[in-house]
Amino acid sequence: MSEPAVETPVLDRYECRACGYVYEPEKGDDKHDIASGTPFAELPINWRCPVCSAKKTAFANIGPAGTASGFKENLGYGLGVNNLTPTQKNILIFGALALGFLFFISLYGLQ
Ligand SMILES: [Zn+2]
Repeated sequence: MSEPAVETPVLDRYECRACGYVYEPEKGDDKHDIASGTPFAELPINWRCPVCSAKKTAFANIGPAGTASGFKENLGYGLGVNNLTPTQKNILIFGALALGFLFFISLYGLQ
């Protein structure tokens, strides 16, 4: 899969984390008179989500159209791995507590 040299810049799409609306630069935003082809970065600072009025800071870069789904999945996997670490820590802590409890009980039994 070798892609030809890109003539037109590929614009990243941005997803509203509050409502799931996706800003597509190729389409722009009719509601706010944003011309098609406007990159997300060039939207006015006071631009809001046309669906839920969330601020620009509530949007996440989900990559350009076409590659977006794969990119999004990778992000999901990344978060999944990050979520495993505290869980494993909890298991370790719980295991240590259980061992300590068993140790305490065995000492108590000896006395
Ligand atoms: Zn929104």
